[in-house]
Amino acid sequence: MQCPGCNHLEARVVDSRTSRGGRAIRRRRECLSCGERFTTYEQVEEEPLLVMKRDGGSETYDRGKLLASIRVACAKRPVPNSDIESLVDEVEEQLAAADQRDVASLRLGELVMERLRALDQVAYVRFASVYRNFQDTTEFMEEVRHLLRRAGHSAAGQVEMFSPGGNRGR
Ligand SMILES: [Zn+2]
Repeated sequence: MQCPGCNHLEARVVDSRTSRGGRAIRRRRECLSCGERFTTYEQVEEEPLLVMKRDGGSETYDRGKLLASIRVACAKRPVPNSDIESLVDEVEEQLAAADQRDVASLRLGELVMERLRALDQVAYVRFASVYRNFQDTTEFMEEVRHLLRRAGHSAAGQVEMFSPGGNRGR
């Protein structure tokens, strides 16, 4: 399985468990070259999830495409690839649990945004700006203002500020 970080082809399995209500096996793998961890799935081939687009068309859900769009939003942000993979796992699990055959692209975006917001505010705003297409301008600007306020507190300390699980002490 090719490493998403360095394209090396050998990885070892570090964890293996069932997922999506027993319909899939999720494996955590570690690249033997760079050590990056990523997730793969093994599952029975079933009817693909359809993503309903705003223009009325639809397309088959593509995990790689969703991952790529989140990676773009996370460019140069301290978000490890494993967190992005986990985020998409959670979104897929939520959709699988609801047994949905299709999902609106806007809803898919919302599911990502809810989680991305907790990971990294900058990535969240970037992603939201693409997904919401600036339609909800008021909410979007509120988000940006909030972000700028927080950024003012910590120019250098953003790695700690946006670290996952940072609210654990409360
Ligand atoms: Zn690698």
